Amino acid sequence: MTDFNATKTMFDLPVGITYLDGNSLGPLPRAAGARMQEVMRDEWGEMLITGWNRAGWMEHPARLGDRIGRLIGAETGHVMVGDTLSIKVHQALAAALALRPDRSVILSDSGNFPTDLYMAEGLIKALDRGHRLRVVAPEEIAAEITGDVAALMLTQVDYRTGRLHDMDGLTETAHAAGALTIWDLAHSAGALPVDVAGAGADFAVGCTYKYLNGGPGAPAFIYVAPRLADRAEPVLSGWLGHAAPFDFEQGYRPGAGIARMRVGTPPVLAMAALDAALDVWDGVDMAALRARSVALSELFIAEVEAACPMLTLASPRDPALRGSQVSFAFADGYAVMQALIAHGVIGDFRAPDIMRFGFTPLYTGEDDVRHAAATLAEIMQGRVWDRPEYHARAAVT
Ligand SMILES: *Cc1c(COP(=O)(O)O)cnc(C)c1O
Repeated sequence: MTDFNATKTMFDLPVGITYLDGNSLGPLPRAAGARMQEVMRDEWGEMLITGWNRAGWMEHPARLGDRIGRLIGAETGHVMVGDTLSIKVHQALAAALALRPDRSVILSDSGNFPTDLYMAEGLIKALDRGHRLRVVAPEEIAAEITGDVAALMLTQVDYRTGRLHDMDGLTETAHAAGALTIWDLAHSAGALPVDVAGAGADFAVGCTYKYLNGGPGAPAFIYVAPRLADRAEPVLSGWLGHAAPFDFEQGYRPGAGIARMRVGTPPVLAMAALDAALDVWDGVDMAALRARSVALSELFIAEVEAACPMLTLASPRDPALRGSQVSFAFADGYAVMQALIAHGVIGDFRAPDIMRFGFTPLYTGEDDVRHAAATLAEIMQGRVWDRPEYHARAAVT
């Protein structure tokens, strides 16, 4: 049984703040600062360049990949950490298109995060081989998986609504139609049980600064199914994905398996923080995490709906169809969120009218949920949000 009181003590949460935005940026794990300082002082400081060998820096991207792999059901040795999620989307998509040279369509849904769609657009332009990005409503995806689809590229949990796609079913449908699948796990990894191997996913990508708490700008990850690992074309053919980087050959030869998804020099300091963040997951049972996430989300919905009839639930009502976030729509949602933050309850806002609340059992309990709902009720019932200072827009919402 997972001890969530114990996991909560592993985070450094500011006093007086109720944090419901771990779906966007996870909080600081207590061990991260000391770990980074150790790496700076004992490794970078003392070992200088010999740290690449003596401290094993060069192996960290694969080692951390395996730690994440355990949380997403990946086979050992098939997840690599590095770069940003946008870059990992580009790599996975390019490899998938190269594996289906006779097909021209990338299929995605209108709930996908913009960067995934932008990266697809950019890749299509760069390839200049007549590919098309077909974007349909999330509920129409299954019917749109036709014989011209090369790659089905979906984010499993919708960043706005929390809507959860059926990874098993859609992967099966895609394979039956001869298409490859790319699953973006940005809002799944660390949020709910994921089984990429069991689902038969071809590629999966994700970031580590949301539910995995790796820190702002922490490196991303990519999974390539073992059956494709030695055939996936590395479009970003950087030297560290080469079969023998330190032979300094003139021409590129891809490394074996997932190693070819490396690009350049890994971020050693950022990986130290991520490593500390992943320690928190060591004793966590994902089924227990999911059960608690559902309980917290259901409690929040019940409390908010009872007190705030002016808010509309924008997430699926059935918890089996949601990730680990709950969204409410309200025309002045931006101002409401600013008022909430000013009152110590942090969620976030996504245009045009969505207020998001993430439920992260590692450090969020029932008291937090009740307090957040009560604060929201106060702000709504007293129209506190309508003060001018809550309407001024910041760059990051
Ligand atoms: C958060 C998120 C991203 C962010 O990409 P970065 O390159 O890390 O900035 C991309 N895709 C999805 C689905 C996300 O939720």
